[in-house]
Amino acid sequence: MNLTDIINQLNSIKASSAAFADTDPDSLKVLTPDIDALTSAIEMLTAMRDTKIETADELKDILDDYKKQALQLKILQRKFTKAARPAKKGDIWICPECGHKITPNHGHCHWCGKKLGGW
Ligand SMILES: [Zn+2]
Repeated sequence: MNLTDIINQLNSIKASSAAFADTDPDSLKVLTPDIDALTSAIEMLTAMRDTKIETADELKDILDDYKKQALQLKILQRKFTKAARPAKKGDIWICPECGHKITPNHGHCHWCGKKLGGW
């Protein structure tokens, strides 16, 4: 069963539930949360289908990749935008990120790109 089939089936269940609730006011209270859940599920599955995601495994893979890339971006932002104070060993300045010798008063390490500050 593909996503369109599932969405169609959920829409059918939703329509049947709504029709039944219309004819039986006592069931309205019980069926309203079901209809709301179906509406939300249909919206989510439709969004998946519209973005060409066909299976739950594919969605999990994409979300896993997204989380990994978001973490990588956070690491890169910290490295390139948040300054760290270089260390000084004798007359030599050392990058706090990679440990290479660096030129005093430069904004970034020439070796690794770490933003430098607090000279
Ligand atoms: Zn460095």
